[in-house]
Amino acid sequence: MSAATSDSIFSRILRGEIPATIVHEDEHVVGIQDIHPQAPVHVLFVPRKPIATLDAAGPEDAELLGRLMLAAAAYARKIGVAANGYRVVMNTNRDGGQSVYHIHLHLLAGRPMLWPPG
Ligand code: 5GP
Repeated sequence: MSAATSDSIFSRILRGEIPATIVHEDEHVVGIQDIHPQAPVHVLFVPRKPIATLDAAGPEDAELLGRLMLAAAAYARKIGVAANGYRVVMNTNRDGGQSVYHIHLHLLAGRPMLWPPG
């Protein structure tokens, strides 16, 4: 694991210490443009609560995890990509390709997605 979750790049963005393009904000979830977009739309839905990985989430986080999904779906509808479709991904730990240890749901859209994802 990299930096402690409260020192993660996303915690620093949420505290306003590092600039980011924020496209969604509510009481529980913030949507941030990915700095290295992998698709025409690439937004990270980050909970204000700093949970390191999906593996560290517990039953008490069930509602929050659902909020991430619903925030991504609502944003996709808002920007008009929902009908064509999109992908949501939560990379988890090393083999999952996670690089920032503060959970985040990737929303990727604006081009056809490949499967298997590699
Ligand atoms: P992961 O690899 O953990 O699933 O996803 C981390 C994502 O965070 C990557 O897609 C990466 O491009 C993005 N990222 C890393 N550092 C920054 C940053 O400082 N600002 C923003 N907006 N995104 C970042």
